[in-house]
Amino acid sequence: MKIFHLSAECYPVAKVGGLGDVVGALPKYLNQAGHHASVVMPFYDRKFTRENEFDIVFEASSRLGNHRYEFQVLKEKTNKLGFELFLIKVPGLIDREEIYSYPDETEQFVFFQLAFLDWLNWSQQTADVIHCHDHHAGLISFLLQHSALYRRISKIPTVLTIHNGQYHGAFGWDKFYYLPEIDATKTGLLDWRGGINPLAAAVKCAWKYTAVSPSYLRELTIQSNGLEYLFYLEQAKGQGIINGIDTQVWDPETDPMLPANYGIENAEDGKQANKELLCERFGLSPDKPLFTFIGRLVVEKGADLLPSIIRHSLNDHPGEINFLVLGSGDRPVEQQLTELKNQFAGRFNSFIGYDEGLAHQVYAGADFILMPSRVEPCGLNQLYALRYGTLPIVRSTGGLKDTVIDFESDLGYGITFNNNTIDEACYAIWRALTLYQNTELLQLLRKRMMELDFSWDKSANDYIKLYESLKI
Ligand code: ADP
Repeated sequence: MKIFHLSAECYPVAKVGGLGDVVGALPKYLNQAGHHASVVMPFYDRKFTRENEFDIVFEASSRLGNHRYEFQVLKEKTNKLGFELFLIKVPGLIDREEIYSYPDETEQFVFFQLAFLDWLNWSQQTADVIHCHDHHAGLISFLLQHSALYRRISKIPTVLTIHNGQYHGAFGWDKFYYLPEIDATKTGLLDWRGGINPLAAAVKCAWKYTAVSPSYLRELTIQSNGLEYLFYLEQAKGQGIINGIDTQVWDPETDPMLPANYGIENAEDGKQANKELLCERFGLSPDKPLFTFIGRLVVEKGADLLPSIIRHSLNDHPGEINFLVLGSGDRPVEQQLTELKNQFAGRFNSFIGYDEGLAHQVYAGADFILMPSRVEPCGLNQLYALRYGTLPIVRSTGGLKDTVIDFESDLGYGITFNNNTIDEACYAIWRALTLYQNTELLQLLRKRMMELDFSWDKSANDYIKLYESLKI
């Protein structure tokens, strides 16, 4: 099958979070299974695009309302990522460094989608499936079916995957004229609560939608930032497919970003070597348990509770804990973490920013990773942590619920808690500390987690079955 993945992120081209990891891995695994999957994303002026060579495979111009933009479709020359990578470049609109947060973001993503469809249509291509990721590609299904411009390709099946249902990409009806030759009787499909809502339009128009874990699929009907009722109405079309991890990129035995590589057999020594270097860099003590948090410092991740959880834990267990945070996001949280650094020097440190290599080193060098998430569609951190022998301490929600079993249950390996409170998180940390004293048990759990298989093989197969069910 020929499958196009449309996404705002794709590792290693441009990544902010899990969306990038998934789109950088799933197509590779689909190709390994004998299909022809490629990725189409906006062009960003970044390291990857500067350091690699591209062919121009298509050039044209299209309208966005009253404005006409020239655009190019670039193809990465070598296919070294394991899939064909296409970038849509639009001088003056889609040629910048950052992925998100420009004031004309709506125009950027709407035009990205129009340019993709124009390319597909005018270059006389076909596809078996167009797989749209999150709201940035949310208008594709609607446009294909209800714009007269795309009649030739209107029967191509579409799949939407929801990586984060909190963001919808909504904009006002004053921009409706951006969308060309729309069937006037169908405009209601774009609407949700009085605005044009690309994620809602995709849920309504895609042939199928998936959420990145079965639990998150259910939770979308309870918390999806206003789309709950829509997810309830459309649930027959939904399927939960848990994300995998790219075990070629995330392998402690070969990971080039680690100062010391290790496998299951020498995990204790290998992890200790990584921990010592990490602790040296951050002024922490390598003979105490190292707790960490990696991620966006936002309410969804429970980051607002993080400073209090750290303060209480360090006060309750003086001299027994190290804590390291890697992340960036909400300013007040960043500020509180900086204050904690001064208050607990030698016991707490943080790196405010994004650093891919450091994230790998933290997964390898840490003993525990804390995820007090309020919403966690799938969560990849816990999966990387498990592979690197770092015990996840998680609030059981979404994908965390589907992937982490408490070590006190049969065949369990992590620590779980149910409510998103400082008390429950601190109690979970106390349980981790107690476990840390029991070296034999900890080693057994470490072996158990490192043996788990969360690779993409199974989940890629689930997607293939889904695509096959759409064949016309
Ligand atoms: P999200 O909701 O942010 O997509 P996921 O758990 O699905 O959460 O994916 C997070 C991904 O982003 C992981 O690969 C994680 O290692 C990475 N990540 C998050 N914050 C940082 C950071 N500050 N530096 C490096 N990597 C980060």
